[in-house]
Amino acid sequence: MNILILGCGYVGLTTGVALSYIGHNVLCVDKDAARIDQLKKCQSPIYEKGMQGILRKFSHKMAFATSIEEVLKESAEVDMFIIAVGTPQKKNGEADTSYVEAAARELAACLQSGKKYTIVIKSTVPIGTNRRVSSIVHRILQERSLDCKVYIVSNPEFLREGMALKDTLYPDRIVLGTECQDAVSTMIKLYKPILEQSFAPPAELPRPEGFSLPHLIITEPASAEMIKYAANAFLAMKISYINEIAGLCEKVGADVVEVARGIGLDHRIGTAFLGAGIGWGGSCFPKDTAALLSLGAEYNYYMPILEATREVNSRQRSLVIEKLQSVLKVIRGSSIGILGVAFKPDTDDIREAPAIDIVKNLVNMGAYVKAHDPVAIDRAKQILQGWDVEFYRDVYEMAAGCDALVLATEWEEYGYLDFSRLKGLMRHAYILDGRNFLKPEELKKLGFIYQGVGR
Ligand code: NAD
Repeated sequence: MNILILGCGYVGLTTGVALSYIGHNVLCVDKDAARIDQLKKCQSPIYEKGMQGILRKFSHKMAFATSIEEVLKESAEVDMFIIAVGTPQKKNGEADTSYVEAAARELAACLQSGKKYTIVIKSTVPIGTNRRVSSIVHRILQERSLDCKVYIVSNPEFLREGMALKDTLYPDRIVLGTECQDAVSTMIKLYKPILEQSFAPPAELPRPEGFSLPHLIITEPASAEMIKYAANAFLAMKISYINEIAGLCEKVGADVVEVARGIGLDHRIGTAFLGAGIGWGGSCFPKDTAALLSLGAEYNYYMPILEATREVNSRQRSLVIEKLQSVLKVIRGSSIGILGVAFKPDTDDIREAPAIDIVKNLVNMGAYVKAHDPVAIDRAKQILQGWDVEFYRDVYEMAAGCDALVLATEWEEYGYLDFSRLKGLMRHAYILDGRNFLKPEELKKLGFIYQGVGR
């Protein structure tokens, strides 16, 4: 199939690369000229496992441009448009759908008479957006007196950053929300190799052992839109729940890591998303929980579980300061090294990362702050422009003279650090493990003061 994707961010680019891998021709449009320049040179603008290699190998099946008109010069044949632009949070918590609507207007202006198109909405959008996009497109078709068939499908995306391509090639489920059977058939054709797992897996992303075929959920647009929000809110709630329990574990002398294992092995609960720590961040959970609350408010519907989910999460970030104060006593003048600024490992995304808030709080309190991250430093420098933070590409250089190290992102490589060397370099051997990732007994044996969360 010939597919045009609007938005080449984490979702749009991953979708484009995966679809070209399974045999489709993909045209990609993004307003960000720097991003498109990089993509034209086959350089991935985001850090994702397998992305760079597959992008390079399948570049002959992809084209990149900053406008639809420009990319259509590569190939005028388009069967399907996929909207994967951002839906950031507005000041009142609502999701801002203006980019989705602008994308819909732009693509409607390029449709041709006598053809049949499917428009897929992959962005996370509030309930009713698919219907709104449909009316925007049909109004433009009317203005242009065009006679073509357009079907709209909600196809929410569930990929996890850091595993984006893996999740796209090996998803748990594919959700389609549409009123139209024709659109369902087209979507099944699009995803056939994934639904049947008939493609040869890329060497860098083998099919997970025991992987069973993805479920296909066909429903109406409102339910599809709600599935995405409800899924993210549930995952955020699971983390906040264990963080609430973690606080009580500290009070009563229990270890939340043991507790999480003990409850997670109950198959009704499951072990995933039960890691206590400094809380969730990223480009999805914060804005999606806010959008869902705002949707509830529109209907005068109170959502206390969701409110508490967010409240517990923001409490986790202040917890870091309280823990540092409990050991250092005075933050002002202390030298603090942050291990990891990405919102989670294996991604360079720092949107709403707990580390960014922690850095800002510490700087405001007069600490001397240094930060390390294996891949996210360039993005962190941009977002922390004007803040007095020093960035390091070497952990040992950063640790020199530190009074405390705060592990904010559980990058695998932090597990393999030479902690006796670090101890020798630090002014005070103190580690605050914000992700319960390190081995407390080993660190204590080396003479570190170790603090985790809920243990
Ligand atoms: P992103 O910010 O990384 O990328 C969005 C891109 O869209 C940007 O590069 C921007 O320049 C581009 N854009 C905006 N308007 C455009 C237009 N009219 N034409 C072409 N390009 C345009 O966003 P993302 O993280 O990829 O998320 C996209 C959507 O998918 C959001 O709704 C998000 O909530 C949802 N989502 C994200 C994830 C994730 O993990 N990042 C997972 C599931 C769903």
